[in-house]
Amino acid sequence: MGGIFGVVSKEDCSLDLFFGVDYHSHLGTRRGGLAVFNSENGFHRAIHNIQNSPFRTKFENDLPGMKGPVGIGCISDYEPQPLLARSHLGNIAITTVGVVTNKDELIKELMDNGRSFLEMSGGEVNQTELVLALLNTQKTILDGIKYIQSRVEGSMTLLIATPEGIYGARDKFGRTPLQIGKKDGAHCLSFESFAYINLGYKDEHELGPAEIVFVTPDSYQVLQEPGKEMKICTFLWIYYGYPTACYEGVNVEAMRYNCGKFLARRDKDANIHPDCAAGVPDSGTAHAVGYANEAGIPFTRPFIKYTPTWPRSFMPTNQEQRNLIAHMKLIPVQQLIKDKSILLIDDSIVRGTQLRETTDFLYESGAKEVHVRPACPPIMFGCKYLNFSRSKSEMDLIARRVVRQFEGDNVSAETLAKYCDPDTPEYEKMQEEIRKQLHFTTLRFHRLDDMLDSTGLDHCKLCTYCWNGKE
Ligand code: SF4
Repeated sequence: MGGIFGVVSKEDCSLDLFFGVDYHSHLGTRRGGLAVFNSENGFHRAIHNIQNSPFRTKFENDLPGMKGPVGIGCISDYEPQPLLARSHLGNIAITTVGVVTNKDELIKELMDNGRSFLEMSGGEVNQTELVLALLNTQKTILDGIKYIQSRVEGSMTLLIATPEGIYGARDKFGRTPLQIGKKDGAHCLSFESFAYINLGYKDEHELGPAEIVFVTPDSYQVLQEPGKEMKICTFLWIYYGYPTACYEGVNVEAMRYNCGKFLARRDKDANIHPDCAAGVPDSGTAHAVGYANEAGIPFTRPFIKYTPTWPRSFMPTNQEQRNLIAHMKLIPVQQLIKDKSILLIDDSIVRGTQLRETTDFLYESGAKEVHVRPACPPIMFGCKYLNFSRSKSEMDLIARRVVRQFEGDNVSAETLAKYCDPDTPEYEKMQEEIRKQLHFTTLRFHRLDDMLDSTGLDHCKLCTYCWNGKE
């Protein structure tokens, strides 16, 4: 996924920038980057690999050399950024979050017009450089941003720092958030609103879909009013977002309590009698608190994450290593497991491998029953709007594998729709097969309508593509 943050101040902004970007570390595991402008040296940039050590330790040595009143930074799961550029638009730095799904078409078009790409990442064109190239085809930065919004398929939220201030633009359908914070003599632009609270900023304005602003130390100016259509990523609440984050005014932790509450309400007719509700850390925990409160059973932590040496989500690319690390991080509390019937909530079931291992591990530790309640419906489609890296292919998804098992390789959209609908026999059959394969005592996925209700937002404002394939 990734996150972005920028500050424009009457004084040096480097410390605010450093901590503000650091507070986005839960959104990515590969790279961090900072770019700061000052009138003596122009833009200065640092980019580091943060796979094996946190953002803060990687960047603290850069800080003394990065003083200035304007700066932007990012946590990036893919390309190195921010990028610096000098063109007819002036000296700028740019950072982005999103995915350009029509990258090949845009690259070809730009190359046919004489544009070359200097910066490569993993043999590919750096996506932020592609966005920069689109920007540079227009006469002004504002026109360039509008052009990016009109040409990019996928999603794109970005910050562009100039010596005078920062342009901020939220994705045209608002798939990812962007918010402005304010304190005396400074403004910041942030993916996560909680990232600026401890830095003394107050909420000033949450950008709407496609909205473009220009921010200076004293004010912000709306350059393009928000569009009407919104499709914010629902997974931000279910899994990605930090518990303290708010999107569209809805707090992540509170939404997860609601999710758990709705799961428990649906279970009133299920003939199960769990002794306790527990969540798979970290994101499953708050859902389980909501469940326990509604069901009137104790919330417990039958396994606890070992945080001293696993402070962040280290994500090797190899799936076996990822599973091993996920397993090593969780330590069981035997006394809370033995002879217990456990209601277990995970944020979602993607491949299912990890949750099956966790469940087997609970049985080996003496659990009598493991009732699983994922906090979202079965994932049926790969995300095409964000750099959402949880599965490489749709056939990695356990729900799709089970559909293929029943229907063969060529499944029509109509048939697939039946497996997405919780009120059909096809869905029931798929759910039961997943339960068997993953060794759960019972399984009941969250219903899409309940999950969306948990946000309190209009359903039409929420992206649900990965669950029902609706664009
Ligand atoms: S498809 Fe899923 S992960 Fe992607 S933006 Fe939509 S809700 Fe988020």
